[in-house]
Amino acid sequence: MLGSKENPLLISVRSGARASMPGMMDTILNLGINDEVVQTLAVKNRRFAYDSYRRFIQMYSDVVKAIPKKLFEEAIDTKKAQRELKLDTDMDANDLEDLVKVFKEIYKNQTGEDFPQDSREQLLDSVEAVFKSWNNPRAITYRKLNDIPSTWGTAVNVQQMVFGNMGDDCGTGVAFSRNPSTGENEVYGEFLMNAQGEDVVAGVRTPEKIDKLKEVNEKAYTEFITYAKELENHYKDMQDMEFTIEHGKLYILQTRNAKRTAISSLKVAVDMVDEGLITKEEAILKVEPNQLEQLLHPNFDTQKLKKAKQIAKGLPASPGAGTGKIVFDAETAQNLYEQGEKELILVRLETSPEDIEGMVVCNGVLTIRGGMTSHAAVVARGMGTCCVAGCSELMINEDEKTITTKTGEVYKEGDFISIDGSTGIVYGEKVDTVDASVSGYFAKFMEWADSFRKLEVRANADNERDAKQAYDFGAQGIGLCRTEHMFFEGERIKAIREMIVSKTPEQREKALNKILPMQRGDFEALYKTMKGYPVTIRLLDPPLHEFLPHEDDEIEELAKEMGMTFEQIKEVVVNLKEFNPMMGHRGCRLDVTYPEIAVMQTKAIIEAAINVQNDGINVKPEIMIPLVGDIKELKYVKHIVTETADKIIEESNVKLKYMVGTMMEIPRACLTANDIAKEAEFFSFGTNDLTQLTYGFSRDDAGKFLKSYYEKKIFENDPFQRIDETGVGILVELAAKLGRETRPDIELGICGEHGGEPKSIDFCHRVGLNYVSCSPFRVPIARLAAAQAAVRNK
Ligand code: PEP
Ligand code: MG
Repeated sequence: MLGSKENPLLISVRSGARASMPGMMDTILNLGINDEVVQTLAVKNRRFAYDSYRRFIQMYSDVVKAIPKKLFEEAIDTKKAQRELKLDTDMDANDLEDLVKVFKEIYKNQTGEDFPQDSREQLLDSVEAVFKSWNNPRAITYRKLNDIPSTWGTAVNVQQMVFGNMGDDCGTGVAFSRNPSTGENEVYGEFLMNAQGEDVVAGVRTPEKIDKLKEVNEKAYTEFITYAKELENHYKDMQDMEFTIEHGKLYILQTRNAKRTAISSLKVAVDMVDEGLITKEEAILKVEPNQLEQLLHPNFDTQKLKKAKQIAKGLPASPGAGTGKIVFDAETAQNLYEQGEKELILVRLETSPEDIEGMVVCNGVLTIRGGMTSHAAVVARGMGTCCVAGCSELMINEDEKTITTKTGEVYKEGDFISIDGSTGIVYGEKVDTVDASVSGYFAKFMEWADSFRKLEVRANADNERDAKQAYDFGAQGIGLCRTEHMFFEGERIKAIREMIVSKTPEQREKALNKILPMQRGDFEALYKTMKGYPVTIRLLDPPLHEFLPHEDDEIEELAKEMGMTFEQIKEVVVNLKEFNPMMGHRGCRLDVTYPEIAVMQTKAIIEAAINVQNDGINVKPEIMIPLVGDIKELKYVKHIVTETADKIIEESNVKLKYMVGTMMEIPRACLTANDIAKEAEFFSFGTNDLTQLTYGFSRDDAGKFLKSYYEKKIFENDPFQRIDETGVGILVELAAKLGRETRPDIELGICGEHGGEPKSIDFCHRVGLNYVSCSPFRVPIARLAAAQAAVRNK
């Protein structure tokens, strides 16, 4: 019974949320010990009794009273140094009894009270503290990263203890029913004899591989393997299990669906279908779309890697390639990142969940101690951040901020290293990376996904390179070509500036004549790359502040080019300056003021289409008019477009089909969509501007104040990333409905950032859009999210 001196019960208090959040919340073990109970326990096993008591004081002090862990760790180190011992396990019962005294003193110094002896008080305070740990900073960060709503909250489990630290026939471990890095169908994990669970996951001692358990206790090993399969079959998913062996007998403490890398995720999903364990639909739902991003990111350039200098080898805890400057703590990592340093590797003595905020901003994580199942290794795998753990060949000095190799070479904070999370090798220099290629399980899995989805997936691409990338990732067209982006590079921006600052139609004509061939060439390349898929080209939509020359030398250069004086150009620039450029002279307003822009762009779009079609390649140009709020604006610009296009087609004596449609990005356009659809053959929802104008939040500035919204739980997500279904979403839904009433075959798509965000894609599916369009690297993510939406909403 809890608190009983004769027959004491010890319990653990653990969190238990709906979605597993490994290591993010708190746990208290060995609860129920006090000065009397410890003596009862000591009759049977003195060392165990005092070891359990000191652990309990440590955990209770940390979790319930927030006493710095360091104080207890220092006390342990002092004790070990006095007795010239190396490992915690080398301490005997007397040492541990001494430590209990020291720990109780620390507790009293820090709180002004004696360590609580009443087990009920211990329990109630612990339960409360574990509930509160839902709002730990690391739990909050983890939820944000993994899209877990803060409103869910956690349960608290109170469980009878079994002990892995009662002697050499006891032990504890963590194991997965398959390999969480590669997906290989083999039980994978590690254990430590004479230890408690925390010793394994906290990475304080480097554990043994699970296979070794066969030699230590074959019966427990065989039983464990059987349970692992049984649990997997029951939950139809890879399991992550914690177990304890108490005097030779196996106990399973906990099981949950395992966190895994994207590669593992895909292999497990495909294998489980092949094994007949799950259906294809179930497999589709098992892979988190955002995780696919891990597969699309760079690996080391193998040629460069061969020549790179290896300085150490650790455990390959999370695959991928990371290169960057060494940083020794999460806070410095964050600060450097905010100052613009994007290449960082976090190096830590041992993995600890508190490092999560540092891990988010780093290219990789290297730890000196700890195993493959340590919390941070698990978290790194989930995030797709590469991680090398347990690299004990390196010596670390966290105070001096150095690591030293076996050969005595010293690396300081700021020095470059590279780590390979797939091999565990650490390189003493910067190693270049190359883009990933996609095949194997990925291809098979995506084929299944494509067979379920109803939404098409297009890409936002403004140049041949991005279009090719998008095509290779499976895009079924270009949903948005931002023509103003075609002028960002090199000399081209000058031509656009020339057009913007032109005072006379002649000047503008001259500038447009420079632009026309560039545009035509670009469009030809896009049509060719997309091999017959639709290419949606948007007429110029440059927020003027992004395109005007700012520096004096740029103004000078422009003046020379245009045969004007510096002052004349400067005056134009000043006059063109807008107070609210996002609501300024952009989009179709530009074509209303300067119809010759629409004429030039239509010419380029249509002439390019004719040229490519003449080469025998199918083309489907869709001309998109941006920032329309009123049918009359659309009508005016559309007339210019169709007149120009039809004339060219007629003169060329070819047959060419093209469509004219509009962006839906102004609330008024959505409200009057039945009218707009009279002129528009398609709508493409520009949810970036639509969110900006519906909320009245500036796209450029909202980031600054939205932080406070998240802190105060007014918002849980950035409405510019995930569509606000209850506001902006209603406008989208209404416009889709009204549009279809006027024009039943109207094509409906989305090309704002939301088109690549899984939850928003689910929304697009439910509203019945025809396609989503997103950046090339998000195309596979969108394909999977669209498939999941179809399966989920069947
Ligand atoms: C939009 O507003 O959602 C959009 C796609 O256009 P842009 O981001 O170019 O304004
Ligand atoms: Mg827009």
